Amino acid sequence: MTEPQTAPRVLIVMAHPDDGEFMCGATIARWAREGYDIHYCILTNGDVGTRDPHMTREQLAATRQAEAQEAARRLGVHHDVIFLNYVDSMLEPSLDLRRDVTRVIRRTRPDIVITQDPSTYYHGQSYINHPDHRVVGEVTMGAIMPSASMRLIFPELYEPEGLEPHDVGELYLTNTTHTDRWVEVTEEDVARQADALRAHVSQLSRDPMEWVMEDAREEAAEARRHGHDFKLANGFKYFKFRR
Ligand SMILES: [Zn+2]
Repeated sequence: MTEPQTAPRVLIVMAHPDDGEFMCGATIARWAREGYDIHYCILTNGDVGTRDPHMTREQLAATRQAEAQEAARRLGVHHDVIFLNYVDSMLEPSLDLRRDVTRVIRRTRPDIVITQDPSTYYHGQSYINHPDHRVVGEVTMGAIMPSASMRLIFPELYEPEGLEPHDVGELYLTNTTHTDRWVEVTEEDVARQADALRAHVSQLSRDPMEWVMEDAREEAAEARRHGHDFKLANGFKYFKFRR
């Protein structure tokens, strides 16, 4: 494969409006700073993420979509966020959802996809992974291989929608316990991640700067144990596909 001459195109596929900022915002900020062409797709409308007894689903969905759009802008993403508007916390790895993600891949034609590791059931002794986080990974991996590549899978995408098959080049899984790739980031990238998180006003109970910096330091410490001289990093499970 010859390396692309233009800036890489990236598609980020996440379950909830704030997942990308929480899990790998500094990497998105770095790639945006370097001129990568970044598209952002969110499967649910985030319409249950509240403990406010007076909030309705409709109000919350509208609020969270606006917050996600602002957060993406703060990371340096220029395209409008794509919302598939599935109901929050009800995601299933259905063929409908896989077809909808396949459609987004064929439209945006990314070199690189970031999504979440579907094999992550828990972290440590105090966190059970959200089931939507597993579903977004399972569906997106199935959409990359084979659905986006094969014209005869979801034939309605090809005819009448006219969406040509597309081969993704690389996949980065965030929210993983199988890290084998680290993206080095700068303090400015992490600060931009914190600033993007602050756009999620309805979700934050404390300022994120301290813990996002701590996460990036911990990931870099793990990277150093694998021979990379990084001070701040985001970790991923990585795949490179033959195209
Ligand atoms: Zn989430």
